This record gives sequence, C-alpha cells and structure tokens, in this order.
Amino acid sequence: MKVYLDNSATTRVYPEAAELMTKVMLEDYGNPSSMHRLGVDAEKHVKTAREQIAATLKASEKEILFTSCGTESDNLAILGYAAAHKREGHHLITTKIEHPAILNTMAHLEKEGYEVTYLDVDHEGRISLDELRDSIREDTLLVSIMHTNNEIGALQPIEEAGALIKKCNPKTVFHVDAVQGYGKLVIRPRSMNIDLLSVSGHKIHGPKGVGFLYIKKGTKITPICYGGGQQKGMRSGTENAPGIAGMALAAKMCYENFQEKNSSMYELKDYLIKGLKDRITDIKINGPQGSEGAPHIVSVSIRGLKAETILNMLSSKEIYVSAGSACTSNNPHVSDTLQAIGLERDLLESTIRISMSEFTTKEELDYLLDTLASQVDTMRKFYRR
Ligand code: PLP
Repeated sequence: MKVYLDNSATTRVYPEAAELMTKVMLEDYGNPSSMHRLGVDAEKHVKTAREQIAATLKASEKEILFTSCGTESDNLAILGYAAAHKREGHHLITTKIEHPAILNTMAHLEKEGYEVTYLDVDHEGRISLDELRDSIREDTLLVSIMHTNNEIGALQPIEEAGALIKKCNPKTVFHVDAVQGYGKLVIRPRSMNIDLLSVSGHKIHGPKGVGFLYIKKGTKITPICYGGGQQKGMRSGTENAPGIAGMALAAKMCYENFQEKNSSMYELKDYLIKGLKDRITDIKINGPQGSEGAPHIVSVSIRGLKAETILNMLSSKEIYVSAGSACTSNNPHVSDTLQAIGLERDLLESTIRISMSEFTTKEELDYLLDTLASQVDTMRKFYRR
C-alpha cells in the first residue's frame, strides 16, 4: 500500500483540475493577451479563475493577482509594499517561525536598512498579542504573520492580530502567509483585517508553478517584475492560464463539503495522535492538538532516532512523510520553528512531520502506526544516537 503523508510539502492534483488543465493546454492554448478567439478563450479561463478564487475569500476578483508560487506571493507582498512605502517607515514585524520565503525576504530587507522585529512564540508555536501590541510603532510599515505553521500546524490568532494592528496603527498593513491554511480553514480577509494574503496552488490539490496574492483594494504595492504589463502591470509575464484554471478549480473544490471534510480530518488527526501515544514509546507530539491546531499536520519527535533514519525506513515501506519542513534536501539546517518552541536539543533532529489531506484514510494511518510500532524499538537498538 502506498501511503502519501507529505501533503504539506505538496499535494496530488485533483483529477478534475488536471483534466481542465489538459483542456486549456490542448484546446484553449491561446495567449490570454491575444485579441483573437483562442486568446479570448484563454482569457475567459483566467477570468473565471479570478472569480472562483475571490468567492472562496468573499473578496472581489479585482483583489486577486496571479503569481508563480507561494514564495513569489510572499516576496511580492513584502518587497512590493516596502518599496511603495519606503518614505513612510522602515520597520517591519514578523514571527520567528515563518517559512524561509518570509524569513529570507526579511533578512534581505534588513541588509537594505530596514529594521525587523521577530516575534517569539510559546511552546505550542503561538505568538503573544501583547508582544505584538508592544512591537507596533509609528513607523511600522507591515506585519507579516503566517496563518498556519508548516512544521507543527500551529494556528495564529489572525483575527485578533488584524484588529490589534489596525487599532495600534491604522497605517500598518497586515500580510498573512496562508499557504498552509487556505483550503483547510475558512479565511475572510475583510473581517480579519488582512490586507495581503499569499496562497500556493500545489498545496491545495492544484498544480505546481502557480499561486496568488490577495491585495485588498487600495493597498499600494510596487511590482517586483517588469515586462509586458500583464495583470495591470502588477505582475508582467504571460499568465499561466492552465495552471491558473487548475488552481482555481482546486480552490473551489477544497471548499466544497467543507464542514464534513474539516471534521473528518480533525477526527483522523486525533486518531493518529492517540495511536502514536498509545503505541510508540518515548515520543513527543509538537504543536497544538485537536482544533487548536491545523487539521492536517502532526509533528512527532521519536527519541533516540534520527528523522532521516525513520524517513528511510518508512519510505522502504512506501510510506511518505517528511523531516521538519525547513530541513529539506537543499536546506539541511535545524528547524527554526522547532527551536523557537523550545524543543529539547536531542529531539530537534528526531522529528518527523506527518501531513494529511482530505484523501487520507484510517487504513493508511493504521498502516503507518503498525509500521512504526513494529520498527521503532528495533531501530532504536541499532541506531540509537
Ligand atoms: N509559506 C509556507 C507556510 C509554506 O509552507 C510554503 C511551502 O512549503 C511556502 C510559503 C512556499 O510556497 P511555494 O512552494 O509555493 O513557493
């Protein structure tokens, strides 16, 4: 049995989205900017996609800008906003547990002379609203807080943070990296006081190479890419019509039968955590359990074993999970998130992330639990670090 439990890294495309993409690639393949019929047909797909995505956020289609991925959306939001407002301030706020798409963008701006405050998190990965309040200044341009942490599934108090930011400094804009939360939880930029919101197609059963940035009407950002002036000059480059259409259909589908899917994912998460606790000795579950955390991410440290060893063993049984997300093959450093929540040093490299999707079944989790239960103690004897 092949069991894919690495859905925070990427997801399997919905067959309906793949079919639509194939149609756009093989039949409606015109350039959306071309004036002839094929161009107009492609443009229709982009327009429908904008409407479908806007509907999931209860936003206006004019507020959706297509990008190539979550990373580009994050970069455009932060660099674009900072560039457009450089005379108004040089202070930015973010958290210590953001994805590298945010942390490295902030580090770049620090080199350019900006000052960045990095908010701490508690042992479950949540920021403190008091610290946020105390950090907002007259010259704070932007606050960037992730919706859902990609390593431990911690959810931030986005609605409260949005209200607080606007209360402390109405000029400060609020950017939210929702790459892991969108499609799994309901997000309403307007009522949550979010000005900029980043999403990626491949995390929501859409294709890779496409994402979007929600930009609240009236929020001024400077483009970071110049060219033919597509998307009103905000993001030049021929629109990826097949990808955009596939992502939008996937977005729509994620929010269909939402309550049912959401509750069954939380049930599976509880089932998995209980199984891990009952059947594997000397482990630690990181991040919030139950609905305090995301429905799809479970981070578990298995004392005495390296994540890599566990990954390889599971992979040989066709079970696919990942090590702490920041620790990828091209970024082997120890996870910022796990350090920020104060995980014991000897568990830092013994942590795996199990990330589910709406397709995950109890049988798949049983196979994972049976495999871990039968292997972990034996492996500890051979590989104890
Ligand atoms: N932000 C978060 C929270 C993520 O988890 C990821 C990807 O893992 C990204 C941003 C980057 O998204 P993409 O892979 O589409 O560039």
